[in-house]
Parts: sequence; structure tokens; C-alpha cells
Amino acid sequence: MNELIDLTATQAAERIRAGDVDAAELFEAYRERAAADELNAFTWVAPESPTNGLPANAPLRGVPVAVKDLFCTEGVPSQAGSKILEGYRPPYTATVIAKLSDAGAPLLAKTNQDEFAMGSSNENSAFGPVLNPWDRTRVPGGSSGGSAAAVAAGLAPWAIGTDTGGSIRQPAALCGIVGLKPTYGACSRYGMIAFASSLDQAGPFTRDVTDAALLFRHMVGRDRRDSTSLDYPGEIELPRAEDLKGLRLGVPEDLTGAAGGIEPGVRENFEATIKLAEGLGASIEPCRLPHAPQALSAYYLIAPAEASANLARFDGVRYGLRVDGDKDLIRMYSRTREVGFGAEVKRRIMLGTYALSSGYYDAYYGTAQKVRTKIAEDFRSAFDRFDFIVTPTSPCVAFELGAKLDDPLAMYLNDFLAVPMSLAGIAAISIPSGLSDGLPVGFQLAGPAFSENRLLDAAHALERAIGFDGSRVRV
Ligand code: GLN
Repeated sequence: MNELIDLTATQAAERIRAGDVDAAELFEAYRERAAADELNAFTWVAPESPTNGLPANAPLRGVPVAVKDLFCTEGVPSQAGSKILEGYRPPYTATVIAKLSDAGAPLLAKTNQDEFAMGSSNENSAFGPVLNPWDRTRVPGGSSGGSAAAVAAGLAPWAIGTDTGGSIRQPAALCGIVGLKPTYGACSRYGMIAFASSLDQAGPFTRDVTDAALLFRHMVGRDRRDSTSLDYPGEIELPRAEDLKGLRLGVPEDLTGAAGGIEPGVRENFEATIKLAEGLGASIEPCRLPHAPQALSAYYLIAPAEASANLARFDGVRYGLRVDGDKDLIRMYSRTREVGFGAEVKRRIMLGTYALSSGYYDAYYGTAQKVRTKIAEDFRSAFDRFDFIVTPTSPCVAFELGAKLDDPLAMYLNDFLAVPMSLAGIAAISIPSGLSDGLPVGFQLAGPAFSENRLLDAAHALERAIGFDGSRVRV
């Protein structure tokens, strides 16, 4: 394998700045690999190197980045994995992508994803499923499956995805890489094609924790075009910690008990990782998050409710697909939506519309919002006693393509351990913690809002102790 590909993104950035590596050469090495992709990880690959116009001395100068399809990028197809947006090339660029480009990171590719980020396996993409590089008969997780598979397989040095209810952490876990779901509001949502606006967050997919910190550093910040974005308190530091001395980790039995349906191999790995954490000086104790088991139920009302409103704009008038309505406007709308949306998206629109309809609003949407508040309170009181909450990221390793397609509830259960943190708006990271039957397992650490520096530090110390080697799938 090309030794350029062996460099982490942080190492590549350093070498380019030192003049040891040529930015155009690095871009071309990845561009060729991405163009030859057999995993269906991409929906678009840059036709040529844009490295000539890169800002001199920019911190990420020349380190290419792959970006989930749903980030609007000017002039480049941005389709959110949907047929209804096929061929849509936005006239503007998402803030997060513009920031990375200002920091010197050129756009390498757009990555495949579940349609409008709805899914946990990437099988809901209008552009076909993505294959897991560890076993091509298996899913990479979702909805940011293309980003996860691309980074794991070394088709991109790093990538960006979004997490609404697990879509960064779960595919990162299933592909054996690092995925960070930032605090809600840390990154601007401007230019991200919306799924559920009160939950959607952009975040990094990387080979290691240091890369995650570096990429995240250049994504954060308040944006006047997203009123829910916030000034990040302080700088994002590169992690240095080598131990976990003095840290109190809570294991929430409400999630890790029988209700979670955690596979034996995943459980074994989780327990071994807990032991490692103890060896590094952390104290581990059980903790309670009594409302967290209701998170999925609340999520599957709130997220579809917001989606049904956000997706109302796709009507054949403004973007992408239009199916002729024989001069009848309403018929044009409905035919366009009939043909343009996939089955899962339609299911969510119906669920959400129902939950918001008059007479049911209080019973469904209102109740779900109350549960959401309870879950946030659970975390708040847990963080009085604990620095971080830890769980496996996903109850299972990567499953066979097609295995859960006919059973939406089984598919939704993949996010049992990830959704509570999304509803609470807090920070959480997944790091690879080993293999079960030859497939990667992820370990999740969740911390309070804006605890990313501490979280990255702890994840870094643990990553060193775990010593996971994902290089074998970067062939
Ligand atoms: N799998 C969850 C869903 O289908 C979460 C998706 C996400 O985080 N975008 O909604």
C-alpha cells in the first residue's frame, strides 16, 4: 500500500506543512483510491485536484475530506441519498464545509448515506447500499455509512457525517473507526439538508482520536445563519492524556441491562474495555438513567415529526426531481413525492404527520417532548456523580445486508444506546474497542454539553491502551 495512505490526517497535515509531502500528490493518491471504490461509499468523487488554489499555511492544508451527501456543496451533487434530489447542485456551501475549506481541506468526495439520514444500515439510500470493508456481505451501519466505510477502507483520510440519533457513532463502531457526535449547537447546521432540526449535528469520522479533535477544531463555532449554533467555549485541544486517573465512569444499567439486547460478544468486549479503563485509573460504578429506555419511543415521534415538516419543501417545484402532473399542481406534488421518496422516508412522514395532527399532538408529540426533558434531567443528575457515562456504542456488530430490512423495529433498536444522548443534546464519542468474531465493536463515552476536550482526552488514553489496529481493511 502507498505509504501516504498510512499517514493519519494529523500526520499528513504536519508533513505537508513541513514540505515533506506534496499536497497535490496526497490528494491524487486518495482521489484514485476513491474513484476505484468497490464499496459504493461515494455518490461523487472530485474529477481533479483542486490543490493549486489552497490557502498557504492553512492548518489542514491539502488533507482531503470526504463529506456526507447531505451537506450542500456549491456546484457539486448534494442529494441526501434521495432520488427526489437526484442531480441537485446547490448554489451555496454548508458552513461546516466552508470552514474546512478555509482551513485548507479540499473536498475529495461526497459519501453515500441513508435517504435523508433515516436508517442504521445505509440500505435506505436511493444510490444503493454501502458495503462494510471488514466483510462485504455486511452493512457499514448508518445513516453515514459511506463516510464510515470510506475512512475505514482508507479511501479518504477522514470524513464528515451527521448524527441525529446515532448516525455517526453507530457506523463508526461497525466500521472500526472513531466517530464524534458533538454537543448540539457546537457546529452550524446551515447547509445541512435537514432531517430533525432539534437533533441533527455534524461531526468527524477519523482513524484515531487525535484526528477527530483536529477535524472538530475546524468545524465548531457560532454561525449567524444558524440561530441554534453557539460559540464554542474555548479551543479544541489535541488530546494528550495517557491515563484516566481520577475519572469516574458510570455504567447505566437501564441501557446495558437486558433491555438493550446487547450481543454476548459485544458485552464481553465492553467488560474487557471497562477493565482496561480501571487499569488506567478510572473508577467504574453502575448508574441510573431511569428514562433512557424510553428514548427510542420518544425519538421515533420527535424525529419523524420534525422530518415531516422539513421534508414538506420537496414538492417538485424548487429542487431535483419533478414528475409531470398533467397540468394539475397537486397531482404534480404528489406524483413527485410518490416517485421521489423511498419507503422509509414515507413511513416517517406519515408517522410524523400523524403525531402532529390535531387531537393527537398532546398525546404523542407532547408526551415525547416531556420524556425528552426527563432524559436530559437523568443525564444531568448522573453527571453530578460521574465524569462520563459509558456503554457499548451498538448492541451488535455489523449485520448481514438485508437482515433487518423487513423489520423496522429491529432496525430502530440498533440505536438504543445512542439515541438518549441525542435527545439530551450532549457530547458522545465512539472508539473502536476490539473485534468480536472478526468484526469491530465500538465503545461509547458520553459527557455533558461542551465536554469535548475532556471526552477526547479520555478517549485518547483509552485508545492507546486498547491498541486497535484497523490497517488491515485499508488495502
Ligand atoms: N438510525 C436512526 C434513524 O434512523 C438515526 C439516524 C441518524 O442519526 N441520522 O433515525
